[in-house]
Amino acid sequence: MKIKRYEGQYVHEVIAHIREELGSDAVVLHTRWRSPSGLKRLLSRPKVEVWAGIRDEGEPAPAANGAGVEPLASRALALKQALEAHANGAGLEPPATNGHGPAVALAEPPATDADPLMDDILDVASDTGELAMALWTDVNASIARLEEKVDELARAREEKAAQAPAPRLRALLDLGVRADVAAEVVAAAEGKSVSEALLDSFQCTGEVELGGGPKVVALVGPSGVGKTTTLAKLAAHFALVQHARVVLCSSDTKRVGTFEQIRAVGDLMQLPTSAIRPPAEASQRIELARRNSDVVLLDTAAAMPGRDPDWSDLVDMLIAVEPDEIHLVVSATLRAADLAHIVDGFRKALPLRGVVVTKLDESVEPGGLVDLAWRHLTPLSYLGVGPNVPGDLETATPDALLARVWSTRLANLLRE
Ligand code: GDP
Repeated sequence: MKIKRYEGQYVHEVIAHIREELGSDAVVLHTRWRSPSGLKRLLSRPKVEVWAGIRDEGEPAPAANGAGVEPLASRALALKQALEAHANGAGLEPPATNGHGPAVALAEPPATDADPLMDDILDVASDTGELAMALWTDVNASIARLEEKVDELARAREEKAAQAPAPRLRALLDLGVRADVAAEVVAAAEGKSVSEALLDSFQCTGEVELGGGPKVVALVGPSGVGKTTTLAKLAAHFALVQHARVVLCSSDTKRVGTFEQIRAVGDLMQLPTSAIRPPAEASQRIELARRNSDVVLLDTAAAMPGRDPDWSDLVDMLIAVEPDEIHLVVSATLRAADLAHIVDGFRKALPLRGVVVTKLDESVEPGGLVDLAWRHLTPLSYLGVGPNVPGDLETATPDALLARVWSTRLANLLRE
Protein backbone atom coordinates (compact mmCIF):
# COMPACT_ATOMS: atom_id res chain seq x y z
CA MET A 1 0.00 0.00 0.00
CA LYS A 2 1.20 3.47 -0.87
CA ILE A 3 0.66 6.21 1.76
CA LYS A 4 1.39 9.87 1.16
CA ARG A 5 1.05 13.16 3.04
CA TYR A 6 -0.65 16.19 1.50
CA GLU A 7 -1.06 19.72 2.75
CA GLY A 8 -3.22 22.67 1.76
CA GLN A 9 -5.51 25.45 2.95
CA TYR A 10 -8.85 23.76 2.31
CA VAL A 11 -9.79 20.11 2.77
CA HIS A 12 -11.73 19.95 -0.47
CA GLU A 13 -8.76 21.28 -2.41
CA VAL A 14 -6.39 18.76 -0.84
CA ILE A 15 -8.83 15.90 -1.47
CA ALA A 16 -9.14 16.97 -5.12
CA HIS A 17 -5.35 16.96 -5.35
CA ILE A 18 -5.18 13.46 -3.79
CA ARG A 19 -7.83 12.15 -6.20
CA GLU A 20 -5.95 13.67 -9.09
CA GLU A 21 -2.66 12.10 -8.01
CA LEU A 22 -3.71 8.77 -6.51
CA GLY A 23 -6.99 8.20 -8.30
CA SER A 24 -10.54 7.86 -7.11
CA ASP A 25 -9.76 4.69 -5.09
CA ALA A 26 -7.50 6.61 -2.74
CA VAL A 27 -8.64 6.75 0.85
CA VAL A 28 -8.04 9.38 3.48
CA LEU A 29 -6.23 7.90 6.46
CA HIS A 30 -5.74 10.89 8.67
CA THR A 31 -6.41 14.63 8.72
CA ARG A 32 -5.35 17.38 11.07
CA TRP A 33 -5.08 21.14 11.11
CA ARG A 34 -1.71 22.74 11.63
CA SER A 35 -1.48 26.33 12.85
CA PRO A 36 1.71 28.33 12.44
CA SER A 37 3.36 29.25 15.73
CA GLY A 38 4.31 32.62 17.20
CA LEU A 39 3.62 35.83 15.32
CA LYS A 40 3.03 33.91 12.10
CA ARG A 41 -0.32 32.88 13.55
CA LEU A 42 -1.54 36.42 13.05
CA LEU A 43 -0.44 36.59 9.46
CA SER A 44 -1.29 33.20 7.99
CA ARG A 45 -4.17 30.77 8.00
CA PRO A 46 -3.93 27.27 9.48
CA LYS A 47 -3.20 24.47 7.00
CA VAL A 48 -4.80 21.07 6.74
CA GLU A 49 -2.59 17.99 6.60
CA VAL A 50 -4.07 14.89 4.97
CA TRP A 51 -2.60 11.41 4.88
CA ALA A 52 -3.98 9.35 2.01
CA GLY A 53 -3.36 5.82 0.84
CA ILE A 54 -3.95 3.69 -2.23
CA ARG A 55 -3.67 -0.04 -2.61
CA ASP A 56 -0.76 -1.25 -4.69
CA GLU A 57 -1.62 -2.72 -7.98
CA GLY A 58 -2.74 -6.34 -7.59
CA GLU A 59 -3.47 -5.86 -3.94
CA PRO A 60 -6.84 -7.54 -3.38
CA ALA A 61 -9.85 -5.47 -2.45
CA PRO A 62 -11.38 -6.07 0.95
CA ALA A 63 -13.98 -8.78 1.21
CA ALA A 64 -17.48 -7.49 0.88
CA ASN A 65 -19.44 -7.36 4.08
CA GLY A 66 -22.36 -8.95 2.37
CA ALA A 67 -25.19 -7.41 4.32
CA GLY A 68 -24.47 -3.78 3.65
CA VAL A 69 -22.32 -1.30 5.47
CA GLU A 70 -21.78 -1.81 9.15
CA PRO A 71 -22.20 1.31 11.28
CA LEU A 72 -18.90 3.12 11.45
CA ALA A 73 -18.71 3.35 15.24
CA SER A 74 -19.18 -0.38 15.86
CA ARG A 75 -16.76 -1.29 13.13
CA ALA A 76 -14.19 1.08 14.58
CA LEU A 77 -14.74 -0.45 18.04
CA ALA A 78 -14.32 -3.95 16.68
CA LEU A 79 -11.19 -2.88 14.92
CA LYS A 80 -9.80 -1.33 18.08
CA GLN A 81 -10.47 -4.49 20.08
CA ALA A 82 -8.82 -6.59 17.43
CA LEU A 83 -5.78 -4.34 17.37
CA GLU A 84 -5.50 -4.46 21.17
CA ALA A 85 -5.79 -8.21 21.19
CA HIS A 86 -3.20 -8.41 18.48
CA ALA A 87 -0.82 -6.19 20.42
CA ASN A 88 -1.27 -8.25 23.61
CA GLY A 89 -0.48 -11.42 21.73
CA ALA A 90 -3.78 -12.82 22.91
CA GLY A 91 -6.04 -15.01 20.89
CA LEU A 92 -6.34 -13.99 17.37
CA GLU A 93 -9.99 -14.67 17.20
CA PRO A 94 -11.90 -12.29 14.92
CA PRO A 95 -13.89 -9.76 16.96
CA ALA A 96 -17.59 -10.19 17.36
CA THR A 97 -19.65 -8.82 14.54
CA ASN A 98 -23.25 -7.85 14.29
CA GLY A 99 -23.96 -10.65 11.92
CA HIS A 100 -23.28 -8.74 8.76
CA GLY A 101 -20.06 -10.48 8.12
CA PRO A 102 -16.55 -10.26 9.54
CA ALA A 103 -15.57 -6.80 10.68
CA VAL A 104 -11.89 -7.60 11.04
CA ALA A 105 -9.95 -10.72 10.15
CA LEU A 106 -7.03 -11.34 12.51
CA ALA A 107 -6.53 -15.04 12.34
CA GLU A 108 -3.28 -16.62 11.28
CA PRO A 109 -1.27 -14.69 8.73
CA PRO A 110 -3.30 -14.89 5.60
CA ALA A 111 -2.40 -17.53 3.09
CA THR A 112 -2.68 -15.05 0.29
CA ASP A 113 -1.17 -11.56 -0.04
CA ALA A 114 -4.50 -10.19 1.08
CA ASP A 115 -4.34 -8.52 4.48
CA PRO A 116 -7.87 -8.38 5.95
CA LEU A 117 -6.75 -6.26 8.90
CA MET A 118 -5.26 -3.64 6.60
CA ASP A 119 -8.35 -3.84 4.44
CA ASP A 120 -10.55 -3.16 7.40
CA ILE A 121 -8.27 -0.37 8.60
CA LEU A 122 -8.51 1.16 5.15
CA ASP A 123 -12.22 0.65 5.11
CA VAL A 124 -12.82 2.34 8.47
CA ALA A 125 -10.25 4.99 7.63
CA SER A 126 -11.99 5.65 4.36
CA ASP A 127 -15.34 6.14 6.09
CA THR A 128 -13.70 8.23 8.81
CA GLY A 129 -11.94 10.28 6.18
CA GLU A 130 -15.13 10.95 4.33
CA LEU A 131 -16.90 11.88 7.54
CA ALA A 132 -14.04 14.17 8.45
CA MET A 133 -14.03 15.59 4.97
CA ALA A 134 -17.71 16.40 5.23
CA LEU A 135 -17.13 18.00 8.61
CA TRP A 136 -14.19 20.03 7.38
CA THR A 137 -16.11 21.10 4.33
CA ASP A 138 -18.78 22.38 6.68
CA VAL A 139 -16.21 24.06 8.89
CA ASN A 140 -14.58 25.62 5.85
CA ALA A 141 -17.88 26.92 4.59
CA SER A 142 -18.53 28.48 8.01
CA ILE A 143 -15.06 30.02 8.06
CA ALA A 144 -15.63 31.41 4.57
CA ARG A 145 -18.95 32.89 5.67
CA LEU A 146 -17.31 34.43 8.74
CA GLU A 147 -14.48 35.84 6.64
CA GLU A 148 -17.03 37.37 4.29
CA LYS A 149 -18.86 38.92 7.26
CA VAL A 150 -15.60 40.30 8.69
CA ASP A 151 -14.72 41.80 5.28
CA GLU A 152 -18.20 43.28 5.05
CA LEU A 153 -17.88 44.88 8.49
CA ALA A 154 -14.41 46.23 7.69
CA ARG A 155 -15.72 47.71 4.44
CA ALA A 156 -18.67 49.29 6.26
CA ARG A 157 -16.29 50.78 8.85
CA GLU A 158 -14.04 52.20 6.13
CA GLU A 159 -17.01 53.69 4.30
CA LYS A 160 -18.26 55.29 7.50
CA ALA A 161 -14.81 56.71 8.25
CA ALA A 162 -14.60 58.10 4.69
CA GLN A 163 -17.99 59.79 5.07
CA ALA A 164 -17.27 61.29 8.50
CA PRO A 165 -16.16 64.91 8.25
CA ALA A 166 -12.54 65.65 9.06
CA PRO A 167 -11.90 67.05 12.57
CA ARG A 168 -11.50 70.67 11.39
CA LEU A 169 -14.70 70.58 9.40
CA ARG A 170 -16.48 68.84 12.28
CA ALA A 171 -15.29 71.52 14.71
CA LEU A 172 -16.52 74.35 12.47
CA LEU A 173 -19.87 72.64 11.98
CA ASP A 174 -20.17 72.14 15.73
CA LEU A 175 -19.54 75.86 16.20
CA GLY A 176 -22.66 76.52 14.14
CA VAL A 177 -20.82 77.57 10.98
CA ARG A 178 -22.86 76.73 7.90
CA ALA A 179 -21.62 73.75 5.90
CA ASP A 180 -20.66 75.67 2.73
CA VAL A 181 -18.71 78.29 4.70
CA ALA A 182 -17.05 75.58 6.84
CA ALA A 183 -15.89 73.77 3.70
CA GLU A 184 -14.48 77.02 2.28
CA VAL A 185 -12.62 77.78 5.53
CA VAL A 186 -11.10 74.28 5.62
CA ALA A 187 -10.02 74.57 1.97
CA ALA A 188 -8.43 77.97 2.65
CA ALA A 189 -6.65 76.50 5.68
CA GLU A 190 -4.71 74.05 3.51
CA GLY A 191 -1.13 74.10 4.79
CA LYS A 192 -1.93 76.42 7.71
CA SER A 193 -4.16 76.50 10.74
CA VAL A 194 -7.86 77.32 10.60
CA SER A 195 -7.12 80.29 12.84
CA GLU A 196 -4.60 81.68 10.38
CA ALA A 197 -7.08 81.24 7.53
CA LEU A 198 -9.75 83.10 9.51
CA LEU A 199 -7.31 85.80 10.55
CA ASP A 200 -6.37 86.37 6.89
CA SER A 201 -9.99 86.63 5.90
CA PHE A 202 -11.75 88.59 8.65
CA GLN A 203 -12.45 92.19 7.61
CA CYS A 204 -13.12 94.91 10.15
CA THR A 205 -13.76 98.63 9.84
CA GLY A 206 -11.82 99.68 12.90
CA GLU A 207 -13.47 102.09 15.31
CA VAL A 208 -15.42 105.18 14.22
CA GLU A 209 -12.87 107.88 13.55
CA LEU A 210 -13.52 111.34 14.85
CA GLY A 211 -11.69 114.55 14.14
CA GLY A 212 -12.69 115.48 10.61
CA GLY A 213 -15.66 117.65 11.66
CA PRO A 214 -18.98 116.59 13.15
CA LYS A 215 -20.00 113.10 12.25
CA VAL A 216 -23.47 111.53 12.37
CA VAL A 217 -23.44 107.82 13.19
CA ALA A 218 -26.78 105.97 12.94
CA LEU A 219 -27.50 102.54 14.40
CA VAL A 220 -30.12 100.43 12.62
CA GLY A 221 -31.38 96.87 13.07
CA PRO A 222 -34.15 94.55 14.25
CA SER A 223 -35.73 95.00 17.68
CA GLY A 224 -34.06 93.88 20.87
CA VAL A 225 -30.60 93.32 19.36
CA GLY A 226 -28.95 95.98 21.52
CA LYS A 227 -29.05 99.22 19.47
CA THR A 228 -29.80 101.52 22.41
CA THR A 229 -27.30 99.73 24.65
CA THR A 230 -24.60 99.97 21.97
CA LEU A 231 -25.38 103.67 21.52
CA ALA A 232 -24.89 104.21 25.26
CA LYS A 233 -21.61 102.27 25.18
CA LEU A 234 -20.32 104.29 22.22
CA ALA A 235 -21.39 107.54 23.85
CA ALA A 236 -19.50 106.66 27.01
CA HIS A 237 -16.41 105.70 25.03
CA PHE A 238 -16.35 108.91 22.93
CA ALA A 239 -17.23 111.20 25.81
CA LEU A 240 -15.20 109.65 28.62
CA VAL A 241 -12.23 108.14 26.77
CA GLN A 242 -11.84 110.40 23.72
CA HIS A 243 -13.28 113.48 25.44
CA ALA A 244 -15.33 114.20 22.34
CA ARG A 245 -18.48 116.35 22.28
CA VAL A 246 -21.32 113.83 21.92
CA VAL A 247 -25.02 114.43 21.19
CA LEU A 248 -27.49 111.57 21.64
CA CYS A 249 -30.47 111.42 19.28
CA SER A 250 -33.31 108.97 18.83
CA SER A 251 -35.77 108.67 15.98
CA ASP A 252 -37.59 105.88 17.83
CA THR A 253 -40.39 108.03 19.09
CA LYS A 254 -43.17 105.47 18.74
CA ARG A 255 -41.95 102.85 21.16
CA VAL A 256 -42.84 103.81 24.70
CA GLY A 257 -39.86 104.54 26.89
CA THR A 258 -37.14 104.42 24.24
CA PHE A 259 -36.42 108.12 24.17
CA GLU A 260 -36.62 108.19 27.97
CA GLN A 261 -33.90 105.59 27.98
CA ILE A 262 -31.70 107.80 25.77
CA ARG A 263 -32.42 110.79 27.96
CA ALA A 264 -31.46 108.80 31.06
CA VAL A 265 -28.14 107.85 29.47
CA GLY A 266 -27.58 111.50 28.48
CA ASP A 267 -28.37 112.71 32.00
CA LEU A 268 -26.02 110.16 33.49
CA MET A 269 -23.15 111.24 31.25
CA GLN A 270 -24.23 114.87 31.05
CA LEU A 271 -24.70 114.72 27.30
CA PRO A 272 -27.33 116.61 25.27
CA THR A 273 -30.15 114.53 23.81
CA SER A 274 -32.61 115.13 20.98
CA ALA A 275 -35.71 113.39 19.66
CA ILE A 276 -35.76 113.26 15.87
CA ARG A 277 -39.30 113.16 14.51
CA PRO A 278 -39.28 111.93 10.93
CA PRO A 279 -39.13 113.24 8.44
CA ALA A 280 -40.13 116.93 8.61
CA GLU A 281 -38.00 117.95 11.57
CA ALA A 282 -35.27 115.40 11.18
CA SER A 283 -32.97 117.31 8.92
CA GLN A 284 -33.24 120.51 10.92
CA ARG A 285 -32.71 118.83 14.31
CA ILE A 286 -29.69 116.90 13.12
CA GLU A 287 -28.16 120.09 11.73
CA LEU A 288 -28.54 121.63 15.16
CA ALA A 289 -26.96 118.62 16.81
CA ARG A 290 -24.06 118.66 14.37
CA ARG A 291 -23.24 122.26 15.11
CA ASN A 292 -22.46 121.58 18.74
CA SER A 293 -20.68 118.26 18.56
CA ASP A 294 -17.89 116.07 17.29
CA VAL A 295 -20.21 113.11 16.95
CA VAL A 296 -24.01 112.69 16.82
CA LEU A 297 -25.14 109.21 17.78
CA LEU A 298 -28.56 108.37 16.34
CA ASP A 299 -30.69 105.49 17.65
CA THR A 300 -33.42 104.34 15.23
CA ALA A 301 -36.69 102.43 15.50
CA ALA A 302 -36.44 98.71 14.83
CA ALA A 303 -37.12 97.82 11.22
CA MET A 304 -36.47 95.03 8.75
CA PRO A 305 -35.88 95.59 5.03
CA GLY A 306 -39.13 95.74 3.10
CA ARG A 307 -41.33 95.36 6.15
CA ASP A 308 -43.53 98.43 5.93
CA PRO A 309 -44.42 100.86 7.41
CA ASP A 310 -41.42 100.70 9.78
CA TRP A 311 -38.99 100.23 6.92
CA SER A 312 -40.30 103.15 4.84
CA ASP A 313 -40.22 105.39 7.93
CA LEU A 314 -36.62 104.42 8.59
CA VAL A 315 -35.53 105.01 5.00
CA ASP A 316 -37.33 108.41 4.86
CA MET A 317 -35.68 109.44 8.09
CA LEU A 318 -32.20 108.36 6.92
CA ILE A 319 -32.66 110.24 3.64
CA ALA A 320 -33.51 113.37 5.62
CA VAL A 321 -30.66 112.98 8.10
CA GLU A 322 -27.93 111.85 5.70
CA PRO A 323 -25.77 110.12 8.32
CA ASP A 324 -22.04 109.85 7.71
CA GLU A 325 -22.00 106.24 8.86
CA ILE A 326 -24.73 103.63 9.24
CA HIS A 327 -23.96 100.60 11.42
CA LEU A 328 -26.24 97.59 11.49
CA VAL A 329 -26.64 96.02 14.94
CA VAL A 330 -27.26 92.25 15.11
CA SER A 331 -27.18 89.71 17.91
CA ALA A 332 -24.75 86.76 17.92
CA THR A 333 -27.46 84.67 19.52
CA LEU A 334 -29.25 84.45 16.16
CA ARG A 335 -28.69 81.37 14.01
CA ALA A 336 -25.97 81.74 11.38
CA ALA A 337 -28.51 81.52 8.56
CA ASP A 338 -30.73 84.23 10.12
CA LEU A 339 -27.75 86.48 10.71
CA ALA A 340 -26.59 86.15 7.11
CA HIS A 341 -30.12 86.80 5.87
CA ILE A 342 -30.51 89.96 7.97
CA VAL A 343 -27.10 91.38 7.09
CA ASP A 344 -27.60 90.63 3.42
CA GLY A 345 -31.02 92.35 3.44
CA PHE A 346 -29.71 95.50 5.13
CA ARG A 347 -26.53 95.82 3.09
CA LYS A 348 -28.50 95.63 -0.15
CA ALA A 349 -30.90 98.34 1.02
CA LEU A 350 -28.60 100.73 2.88
CA PRO A 351 -25.00 101.91 2.50
CA LEU A 352 -23.71 100.17 5.63
CA ARG A 353 -20.37 101.16 7.05
CA GLY A 354 -20.12 98.20 9.42
CA VAL A 355 -21.89 95.57 11.50
CA VAL A 356 -22.00 95.59 15.30
CA VAL A 357 -22.40 92.05 16.68
CA THR A 358 -23.83 92.09 20.22
CA LYS A 359 -24.47 89.48 22.91
CA LEU A 360 -21.36 87.49 22.15
CA ASP A 361 -21.24 86.75 25.87
CA GLU A 362 -24.55 84.89 25.51
CA SER A 363 -23.65 82.95 22.40
CA VAL A 364 -22.19 79.48 23.00
CA GLU A 365 -21.49 78.76 19.35
CA PRO A 366 -20.17 81.82 17.56
CA GLY A 367 -20.61 80.09 14.22
CA GLY A 368 -22.70 83.01 13.01
CA LEU A 369 -19.83 85.37 13.77
CA VAL A 370 -17.37 83.21 11.78
CA ASP A 371 -19.94 82.96 9.04
CA LEU A 372 -20.49 86.72 8.87
CA ALA A 373 -16.83 87.62 9.02
CA TRP A 374 -15.90 85.02 6.44
CA ARG A 375 -18.49 85.98 3.87
CA HIS A 376 -17.30 89.60 3.72
CA LEU A 377 -20.90 90.73 3.41
CA THR A 378 -19.98 93.82 5.40
CA PRO A 379 -16.94 94.36 7.63
CA LEU A 380 -17.52 94.21 11.36
CA SER A 381 -17.16 97.38 13.43
CA TYR A 382 -17.87 96.57 17.11
CA LEU A 383 -18.49 93.55 19.32
CA GLY A 384 -20.91 93.70 22.23
CA VAL A 385 -19.64 91.31 24.86
CA GLY A 386 -22.01 92.01 27.74
CA PRO A 387 -24.85 94.28 28.90
CA ASN A 388 -22.67 96.68 30.89
CA VAL A 389 -22.16 100.28 29.85
CA PRO A 390 -19.51 101.33 28.99
CA GLY A 391 -17.27 98.31 29.57
CA ASP A 392 -18.72 95.59 27.39
CA LEU A 393 -17.90 96.94 23.95
CA GLU A 394 -14.85 96.00 21.88
CA THR A 395 -13.67 97.39 18.57
CA ALA A 396 -13.88 94.51 16.09
CA THR A 397 -10.45 93.36 14.94
CA PRO A 398 -9.46 90.00 13.43
CA ASP A 399 -7.67 89.17 16.71
CA ALA A 400 -10.70 90.11 18.81
CA LEU A 401 -12.91 87.98 16.57
CA LEU A 402 -10.55 85.02 16.87
CA ALA A 403 -10.40 85.45 20.63
CA ARG A 404 -14.17 85.01 20.65
CA VAL A 405 -13.92 81.84 18.59
CA TRP A 406 -11.09 80.53 20.77
CA SER A 407 -13.11 81.02 23.89
CA THR A 408 -15.39 78.17 22.86
CA ARG A 409 -15.07 74.58 23.90
CA LEU A 410 -13.82 73.51 20.44
CA ALA A 411 -11.06 76.08 20.33
CA ASN A 412 -8.23 73.56 20.43
CA LEU A 413 -9.33 71.83 17.26
CA LEU A 414 -9.49 75.12 15.40
CA ARG A 415 -6.04 76.16 16.56
CA GLU A 416 -4.48 73.11 14.92
P1 GDP B 1 -32.74 97.51 21.03
O1 GDP B 1 -34.18 97.18 21.04
O2 GDP B 1 -32.07 97.01 19.80
O3 GDP B 1 -32.45 98.95 21.27
O4 GDP B 1 -32.06 96.67 22.22
P2 GDP B 1 -31.64 97.20 23.67
O5 GDP B 1 -30.45 98.06 23.60
O6 GDP B 1 -32.85 97.77 24.34
O7 GDP B 1 -31.19 95.83 24.32
C1 GDP B 1 -32.07 94.76 24.53
C2 GDP B 1 -31.53 93.90 25.67
O8 GDP B 1 -30.30 93.35 25.27
C3 GDP B 1 -31.25 94.70 26.92
O9 GDP B 1 -31.67 93.94 28.04
C4 GDP B 1 -29.75 94.85 26.94
O10 GDP B 1 -29.22 94.93 28.26
C5 GDP B 1 -29.32 93.58 26.27
N1 GDP B 1 -28.01 93.67 25.60
C6 GDP B 1 -27.61 94.54 24.70
N2 GDP B 1 -26.34 94.28 24.29
C7 GDP B 1 -25.94 93.18 24.99
C8 GDP B 1 -24.73 92.39 25.03
O11 GDP B 1 -23.73 92.62 24.32
N3 GDP B 1 -24.71 91.33 25.89
C9 GDP B 1 -25.79 91.02 26.66
N4 GDP B 1 -25.68 89.95 27.45
N5 GDP B 1 -26.93 91.72 26.64
C10 GDP B 1 -27.00 92.79 25.82
